[in-house]
Amino acid sequence: WFSAEREAMSYDVVIVGAGPAGLAAAIRLKQLCRAADTDLSVCVLEKGAEVGAHVLSGNVFEPRALDELIPKWRQEDAPIRVPVSSDKFWMLTKNKAWTLPSPFDNKGNYVISLSQLVRWMSVKAEELGVEVYPGFAASEILYDENQIVAGVATNDVGIAKDGSKRETFQPGVELRGRITLLAEGCRGSLSENIITNHKLRESGQGQHQTYALGIKEVWEIEEGKHKPGSVVHTVGWPLDMKTYGGSFLYHLDDRQLAIGLVVALNYRNPFLSPYDEFQKFKQHPAIRTLLEGGTVLQYGARTLNEGGFQVR
Ligand SMILES: Cc1cc2nc3c(=O)[nH]c(=O)nc-3n(C[C@H](O)[C@H](O)[C@H](O)COP(=O)(O)OP(=O)(O)OC[C@H]3O[C@@H](n4cnc5c(N)ncnc54)[C@H](O)[C@@H]3O)c2cc1C
Repeated sequence: WFSAEREAMSYDVVIVGAGPAGLAAAIRLKQLCRAADTDLSVCVLEKGAEVGAHVLSGNVFEPRALDELIPKWRQEDAPIRVPVSSDKFWMLTKNKAWTLPSPFDNKGNYVISLSQLVRWMSVKAEELGVEVYPGFAASEILYDENQIVAGVATNDVGIAKDGSKRETFQPGVELRGRITLLAEGCRGSLSENIITNHKLRESGQGQHQTYALGIKEVWEIEEGKHKPGSVVHTVGWPLDMKTYGGSFLYHLDDRQLAIGLVVALNYRNPFLSPYDEFQKFKQHPAIRTLLEGGTVLQYGARTLNEGGFQVR
């Protein structure tokens, strides 16, 4: 609902989330405006303190969508510099790694940091006139008197534990939009709210979504072990045959290695801890030797959609 107490700003399009989806949408809208010699005001809200701060991904990057969006990215300073140089697929048992034919085709793909890519995309969006606001979490959907979505509001700050307003209290801001685009990524809170309230799964006869948890670390490893562009995926140990999931090892530049384990959240064993499985995985002889002598630079975890339309 609109509130008289809150400051309000109006846009043609309000986009929630400065991930690849939200920023690509913002850039495309502005490109279409230029082509049609018109203008639409577009803003992107991002809850991370800076764009990219909350983006967590592998990432092996398939450039087809970026080729369409920014065809000249190869001539620009895009942070996409490490082509996939080898692509391996291992089946792990407790002490051995068996090489299998890879079910993936990563020819022409790149090993990148998705956080760096969205930072670059955010600059591109701003150059086109998009207003990007990091540090603002959209926490409420605004509806007009006809129950039509009319924007979002950020949350109030400065509220004490008992719900009373502190001296530092500041009401949230309303961002009203003719169109509101939710690009919150997997299991976004506002998106879930809309899906439930408007019964979108039922009305679209959609199946329920399935999820996995991805745990990832970025390591700096020893020079001699680092092979820029090397991609390895594994299945098997430490997960049992009833648990869907696997690991990834992607060599970036600057001796960096992205290593992670993805575990589907429909695992049967209620005592299974994806975090502990990841710790075990790093002790495997084929993995441990790679990490020995290295240092962890960053770590995090994020859910992934397992269902839905997936392009291969
Ligand atoms: C461990 C892991 C490995 C992966 N590996 C690969 C890979 O190798 N290759 C590949 O193609 N894909 C990979 N993926 C999937 C890929 O990361 C996602 O498909 C992609 O990030 C989705 O982009 P998005 O813009 O929809 O959402 P996200 O990247 O999740 O971005 C959403 C953004 O919205 C912001 N946000 C969310 N809610 C709000 C709110 N209410 N208010 C304000 N801001 C909000 C978030 O902070 C975030 O910045 C991987 C994912 C994980 C977790």
